[in-house]
Amino acid sequence: MIGVGDMVLLEPLSEDSFINNLKKRFDHSEIYTYIGSVVVSINPYRPLPIYSPEKVEEYRNRNFYELSPHIFSLSDEAYRSLRDQDKDQCILITGESGAGKTEASKLVMSYVAAVCGKGAEVNQVKEQLLQSNPVLEAFGNAKTVRNDNSSRFVKKMLWQKLTPMTLSLDLLEKSRVVKQPRGERNFHIFYQILSGASEDMLNKLKLERDFSRYNYLSLDSARVNGVDDAVNFRTVRNAMQIVGFMDHETQSILEVVAAVLKLGNIEFKPESRVNGLDESKIKDKNELKEICELTGIDQSVLERAFSFRTVEAKQEKVSTTLNVAQAQTKVRKKVMGVLDIYGFEIFEDNSFEQFIINYCNEKLQQIFIELTLKEEQEEYIREDIEWTHIEYFNNAIICDLIENNQTGILAMLDEECLRPGTVTDDTFLEKLNQVCATHQHFESRMSKCSRFLNDTSLPHSCFRIQHYAGKVMYQVEGFVDKNNDLLYRDLSQAMWKANHSLIKALFPEGNPAKINLKRPPTAGSQFKASVATLMKNLQTKNPNYIRCIKPNDKKAAHIFNEALVCHQVRYLGLLENVRVRRAGYAFRQPYELCLERYKMLCKQTWPHWRGPARAGVEVLFNELEIPKEEYSFGRSKIFIRNPRTLFKLEDLRKQR
Ligand code: ADP
Ligand code: MG
Repeated sequence: MIGVGDMVLLEPLSEDSFINNLKKRFDHSEIYTYIGSVVVSINPYRPLPIYSPEKVEEYRNRNFYELSPHIFSLSDEAYRSLRDQDKDQCILITGESGAGKTEASKLVMSYVAAVCGKGAEVNQVKEQLLQSNPVLEAFGNAKTVRNDNSSRFVKKMLWQKLTPMTLSLDLLEKSRVVKQPRGERNFHIFYQILSGASEDMLNKLKLERDFSRYNYLSLDSARVNGVDDAVNFRTVRNAMQIVGFMDHETQSILEVVAAVLKLGNIEFKPESRVNGLDESKIKDKNELKEICELTGIDQSVLERAFSFRTVEAKQEKVSTTLNVAQAQTKVRKKVMGVLDIYGFEIFEDNSFEQFIINYCNEKLQQIFIELTLKEEQEEYIREDIEWTHIEYFNNAIICDLIENNQTGILAMLDEECLRPGTVTDDTFLEKLNQVCATHQHFESRMSKCSRFLNDTSLPHSCFRIQHYAGKVMYQVEGFVDKNNDLLYRDLSQAMWKANHSLIKALFPEGNPAKINLKRPPTAGSQFKASVATLMKNLQTKNPNYIRCIKPNDKKAAHIFNEALVCHQVRYLGLLENVRVRRAGYAFRQPYELCLERYKMLCKQTWPHWRGPARAGVEVLFNELEIPKEEYSFGRSKIFIRNPRTLFKLEDLRKQR
């Protein structure tokens, strides 16, 4: 074992020793380290030969502690608890963008796919599950500054006892379709189609190969190093077939994608009308005509829908919910969920999207704190061992700043959006300044009692939140608009009238029979509701954690930036995590396993102990003269207070 495989056994425990241990292991290609049952994973940024079918066999049905730390071990543990104890499992993968969450989720999936049930039917489902990745990534991932393949949605995978799955795609970062930050791209699929489609297909989709023809495609970073969009397009189409899309369905999806691209090219010009009102007119009718041909929308209907808007029409967000693979097999009771979520983001310019993403991460952190403490406490109660209280930073206060129903930032944003009168991003910020000024985690220069009046690093148009993972400055520009997320009724009605079954299905609210005069919920409140549902769901499951760490900002192999790692270790609360684990007892082990491992150290227990295992361990520890205050007897496990005791036992074993 290189370094210490389980941080719980690290002696002495300090931030330095923790980082050093990670570094030492990383330098020897050991990217996984445990904190008890939590797996800490460091992105190697290079392929490692540790995921072969032989490795799968090695980890299959083995105990967590028997082999060197690995993500397969956690996968196996979760899978076995599901199978043998019928406990719902969830695997929570957290860490910042580029830390390796999506790769980790794929590794868990491939492990479970490899070990779960056999048979032709199951194999087909497995294949579909694995092939869903390229499809999901084409529609839901994009190149960002942090990650060339960044997930812009929340992926939930559910496993049924022996067979996968339901799979869902949630909370897509829709605004990316319309606009991408500098150095970033739109969703992969757009580039893939243009690069990979045959001439014939491009013609059918009324597209041109040249990226520069499309306003929605950022050009400064259109090509990604080491990524072949054309090849990937073939992979995606093939995968769509395996996942179960019929050819005509794939075709409809591509038509929608093409129409979205072309919508971005529609430009408007203001035109004064006799009555003095401005109306917007479409500049280039040809693009509109082609969109209508692709989607089966009547041109006059669409034109009318557009023209009824003012000159601002160009800024309306046209968004499609790409609710891709939603495969579902027979319903059953117990499930295993894998949650791969966008990680915490701190960019130079942070907007509504980052705010939402970081809120989600706050909530995940909170549930981590709750569940680890709860789990630990419950084990102590179960085993009848005394529980000692632990100090830790609880980020509930930050969650409250964001989600409180009266005074939370989201609530105030909604209030602004729904208020009659002139609403702008500035009026929203003013409101924040009034209500949040005294909150410990809120910073702004404009609030009356501001502690930050002289902080010139904080522009007047921004507010800053001190998140658990660090301070983030948010630009208010666009908050109101993005939260409104309005698709005007005449537009959704035009879409619903399309002679195109997929588009029709995407805009059920456009059905005149179902007209709802109530304002649709804002983006923020929809998100909040989804997050709440997600959290409730997670609380009912047995959690398994993978904490991903990014070793450097260069996407490079072999570089371990200690300061960067240290920052992540701090905000992920990993040291607290170790402390909780060893608050009372660093190590615990079922009596049978303990006796099996150490019985050779004592004449009375070697080679066979005939009584109950617990009595055997008692005899053994007495004989070795381990101080009584060093351990406690639980119902089924021995609890050892100090890692040194365990090391002593291990040393004695080696001397034999
Ligand atoms: P996240 O989902 O956390 O944003 P990803 O999982 O997409 O990050 O990882 C970013 C990149 O890092 C991947 O595209 C891959 O190149 C590399 N990477 C991540 N995990 C591993 C791993 N276990 N082995 C090899 N490369 C990895
Ligand atoms: Mg990801």
